[in-house]
Amino acid sequence: MTGAFNDTTNRTSYDVIVIGGGAGGLNAALVLARARRSVVVVDSGEPRNAPSAHMHSFLSRDGVPPLSVLETGRAEIARYGAVLLKGQVDQVEAGEPGGYVVRLAGGATLDARHVVLASGLRDELPAVPGLRALWGKDVIFCPYCHGYEVRDQPLVVLGVHPASAGQALLLRQWSHDVVYVPHSQPLTEEDRERMDARGVRVAEGPVSCVLTEGGRLRAVELADGRTLECAAVFVFPKMTPNDAAFDGLGCARDEAGWLVTDRAGRTSRPGLWAVGNVVDSRAQAVTAAGMGAAAAFALNHDLVDEEIEQAVAAHRAATTATATVR
Ligand SMILES: Cc1cc2nc3c(=O)[nH]c(=O)nc-3n(C[C@H](O)[C@H](O)[C@H](O)COP(=O)(O)OP(=O)(O)OC[C@H]3O[C@@H](n4cnc5c(N)ncnc54)[C@H](O)[C@@H]3O)c2cc1C
Repeated sequence: MTGAFNDTTNRTSYDVIVIGGGAGGLNAALVLARARRSVVVVDSGEPRNAPSAHMHSFLSRDGVPPLSVLETGRAEIARYGAVLLKGQVDQVEAGEPGGYVVRLAGGATLDARHVVLASGLRDELPAVPGLRALWGKDVIFCPYCHGYEVRDQPLVVLGVHPASAGQALLLRQWSHDVVYVPHSQPLTEEDRERMDARGVRVAEGPVSCVLTEGGRLRAVELADGRTLECAAVFVFPKMTPNDAAFDGLGCARDEAGWLVTDRAGRTSRPGLWAVGNVVDSRAQAVTAAGMGAAAAFALNHDLVDEEIEQAVAAHRAATTATATVR
């Protein structure tokens, strides 16, 4: 099968282990495998955009099903010898010398000189009946991903986050018919004025449920019984990075608890890298892929530098030994 998981080896030691086989992890693996590094991608197979039928804003892939992009990516990296392992990484630990041991659910271990964390994030929706079933279809959050498809149609924004008001104001770029419902996030006077000025209507919440017809969104029902017919509901999910595998390694985190990296994806601990949504909630698929590629470049350079250093040390030792014999 095209792009299938291909782990038929008993190999356990690699130059690089990539945790997560979404756009970020697969692009990192592609660049590394083409740089002739031994690479394994361990992936639990739940990319964030899986609920959506179409992926947008990815040059040359606009409108294609997101899972088909990953299937193509898996086939591409397999062509260069990268191994794809279906599994869940539980923990990464320091190994010897200077490398890392990766523990998989079920007890197996792999070891590598460097580890790239590309495990994405989890989206948690507010507990509104009906919302989750439509996630990625008629319930969405990113206008750059799916705004064009609902342009000029009635849109409802659920106020659940300090940034929800900004989301409603942004959506006026795509539709003149935007209604903001302060569900659990009260509206400031300043934002109310901005909405008035931009023609975003406000319907006092909270929302009690979403109503469907034929499996598609029909309307949002408010607690007082009113309904708002709409083509899409925009809502900010609570985003939590899938970074528990790096717990206990002492990598620096920001005040919100997210891993901190440099522009190439280096964490504060040598040999550990992180790319895509696990470190940047705003990264779209193409951005995550680019982060994976950038990290792979820098990682390969670090490995080459290590190898040069080791070669020079060995060369000097050999030269000294030869001189002593003479
Ligand atoms: C509903 C929705 C629609 C979207 N639509 C678009 C769109 O149209 N265009 C666009 O550009 N972006 C879109 N996005 C954003 C897009 O999903 C992300 O930009 C992209 O998935 C980030 O790639 P990633 O590689 O960082 O993470 P992911 O694609 O989420 O991949 C992470 C992978 O790591 C695996 N994983 C997690 N933890 C572990 C572990 N411990 N061990 C092993 N594997 C693990 C997961 O199963 C998953 O396969 C959308 C997002 C959502 C929620």
